[in-house]
Amino acid sequence: IYDSVQSKNITLEDIFISVKTTKHYQYTRLPIILKTWFQLAKDQIWFFTDTENRQHQNQTNGHMVNTNCSASHQRKHLCCKMSVEYDHFLESGKKWFCHFDDDNYVNIPRLVSILQNYNHQEDWYLGRTSVYEPVKIYKKPTNKLMFSFWFATGGAGFCISRSLALKMLPVASGGRFISICEGIRLPDDVSMGFIIEHLMKKNLTLVPEFHSHLEQMKLLIPETFRDQISFSYGKAKDEWNVVNVPGFDTRYDPTRFLSLHCFLFPHFKFCPR
Ligand code: UDP
Ligand code: MN
Repeated sequence: IYDSVQSKNITLEDIFISVKTTKHYQYTRLPIILKTWFQLAKDQIWFFTDTENRQHQNQTNGHMVNTNCSASHQRKHLCCKMSVEYDHFLESGKKWFCHFDDDNYVNIPRLVSILQNYNHQEDWYLGRTSVYEPVKIYKKPTNKLMFSFWFATGGAGFCISRSLALKMLPVASGGRFISICEGIRLPDDVSMGFIIEHLMKKNLTLVPEFHSHLEQMKLLIPETFRDQISFSYGKAKDEWNVVNVPGFDTRYDPTRFLSLHCFLFPHFKFCPR
């Protein structure tokens, strides 16, 4: 009874929200987040970047962390950021670690309400897969299947309970996450799945309310926006993959995140009334 009371009591204050970003996106993606969902969780959201920016440091009350990881899309450098995110979560003492990318919109109240369904004192790895089968690791040179595992797509966001994060400490803390990434030569989110599913023997719990731009955003229907945790956007060639939401002109709001924010929170200061 005590445990269930505890998890029901989860509030925003119990969540550590990390956002991976980079110098290259500091004037495009970051300002959209700062204008919208960051405002709903200013004390909980931390940005993990690879540059210094005084203005952003002021706007976030010092919540921009310069990871000193290189500004590149290479596996090693993305794993470097994830490693720093994880270490900062451990330091924070919070009950939940939730990671997102800088092309995510996070529906903060829904994130909180979904986490209330799980006990942070148990081991939970919550997220969404984007592949139809698990990652398979084969033994060389015989090509015998050694093991397989699922992972939560980093670009949709995922959450890890404190209990689980603490169990990962011996293999993942203090930069050891980077060594694991390098060892299996897989991206940061896949490496997270490897550590949790294969090394920790804890399964990913599918939470379909997380969304990445690997899905077609226009298939999400407005009546259910309130139920979703995360959204994303992408641009392939000349085509935007964006949420279909009424609101601002597409030239002013190409990502649709300003419109989405006003759809969810119509009384917000910049929303039309
Ligand atoms: N990113 C980064 N360094 C880079 C490129 C990207 O930290 O050099 C981050 C970016 O800010 C985002 C995530 O990695 O949070 C995914 O980047 P992006 O959306 O550009 O690529 P995707 O993998 O989704 O195609
Ligand atoms: Mn992306």
